[in-house]
Amino acid sequence: MYDNKRTGKLIVIGGGAAGFFCAVNAARLNPTLQVILLEKSNKLLSKVKVSGGGRCNVTHACFDIKEMSKHYPRGEHFVRKAFHQFFTTDTIEWFEQRGVKLKAEADGRMFPVTNSSQTIIDCLLNEATKYGVEILLNREVKELKTENEKWKIILNTTEELFADFICIASGGFPKLHQFEWLKETGHSIIEPVPSLFTFNIPNHPITKLMGVVVPEASIKIKSTKLKNTGPLLITHWGMSGPCVLKLSAWGARELQQLNYDFIISVNWLKDKNEQEIKNEFQFIRTKNGSQKIINNNLFHLPNRLWQFLMTEAGIKDEWRWADLPSKEQNRLTQLLTNHEFHVKGKTTFKEEFVTAGGVDLKEVDANTMQSKLKPHLFFAGEILDVDGITGGFNFQHAWTSGFIAGKTIATLS
Ligand SMILES: Cc1cc2nc3c(=O)[nH]c(=O)nc-3n(C[C@H](O)[C@H](O)[C@H](O)COP(=O)(O)OP(=O)(O)OC[C@H]3O[C@@H](n4cnc5c(N)ncnc54)[C@H](O)[C@@H]3O)c2cc1C
Repeated sequence: MYDNKRTGKLIVIGGGAAGFFCAVNAARLNPTLQVILLEKSNKLLSKVKVSGGGRCNVTHACFDIKEMSKHYPRGEHFVRKAFHQFFTTDTIEWFEQRGVKLKAEADGRMFPVTNSSQTIIDCLLNEATKYGVEILLNREVKELKTENEKWKIILNTTEELFADFICIASGGFPKLHQFEWLKETGHSIIEPVPSLFTFNIPNHPITKLMGVVVPEASIKIKSTKLKNTGPLLITHWGMSGPCVLKLSAWGARELQQLNYDFIISVNWLKDKNEQEIKNEFQFIRTKNGSQKIINNNLFHLPNRLWQFLMTEAGIKDEWRWADLPSKEQNRLTQLLTNHEFHVKGKTTFKEEFVTAGGVDLKEVDANTMQSKLKPHLFFAGEILDVDGITGGFNFQHAWTSGFIAGKTIATLS
């Protein structure tokens, strides 16, 4: 009986954050729309489940659209437009209206107060049940065609489904050939490359300092314009921490072209320059000339790093400030502000892995998430050439694009 009242059929491809948000909002906003969600695996919302260490980093506590958009190495202008329709404040309110309160941590990441991603999953599943979204698991879409002004969806099960609207929310794919099933849509695919990875610095003694964190360092990548500032973590294979991860995101494409083989210059003191350091050395020489250099960690660096820099600069343990020859002083100044390392290779940051690349944004309307090439075709989430740095930005894009696609389809049907 219910079906008789249906005015259109929407098929959402992908049971992740973006697909769910499109499906449940479309079904809620237009009760006459039939909504089916297809998921190729036997699990729904699997990334929501594992994200944020099982707590789900739902969004970021940033309430300024322009500022928020700056956290997307690819897609900044696209998300800026989209955020005018559904922003962080809307995400917080949407979940709160359904009994899920979010809290912000000191670094801006937002989580459910329960500290469990299952709360987000339960909320989305309840919403799907409430508005009659039909969920079909183990259904992989193999091909898309148009036939008699409808979309024809060909599945792995050899079933064929027809729909008035489709929303592709299948997430990102690391290899270009994995986008092959979308070829009938006519959309261009920007080649995927990894984003959010750490730097390998093989056979360098710095790795003996694994576990050392410098709260504010800066890194420049030589022969590029790439640079970034933030916490830097020394690991047993090289360098990690927000400073490195953000740099890998901003430089995703350029670093791939360099075959992940490049030189970095680390300033352990963020933005202090050589002259400022020389002045400080001059001052300490006159004030504390009899103090041993090794015991006088002038810039409050982690002690293990200070000792390492002493050794690298050729400064002996027993030397006092008054004894410091200019050659070693110059070497230490260099190491503090321009310490060069040869990066060779990368390691995937498993905590929050995303790929850069996907459906070309030029061919999608950010105000509706509708294709500019084919009517009644929509995209949401990581399938688009949008990716954010770590901190809840990728999920916010999934909610925003999913909501806009769902709302547009609800209005059109
Ligand atoms: C381990 C990990 C931790 C993360 N942590 C965070 C975090 O803390 N904060 C943050 O903002 N982001 C995080 N991310 C990124 C975030 O999870 C993604 O950006 C987000 O889930 C993308 O949502 P989506 O719905 O677009 O895609 P997905 O979540 O990837 O969902 C796509 C779904 O489509 C299905 N699918 C694919 N192809 C087909 C097909 N042909 N037919 C049918 N179904 C198909 C897939 O099986 C999948 O279930 C993390 C990612 C990972 C991997």
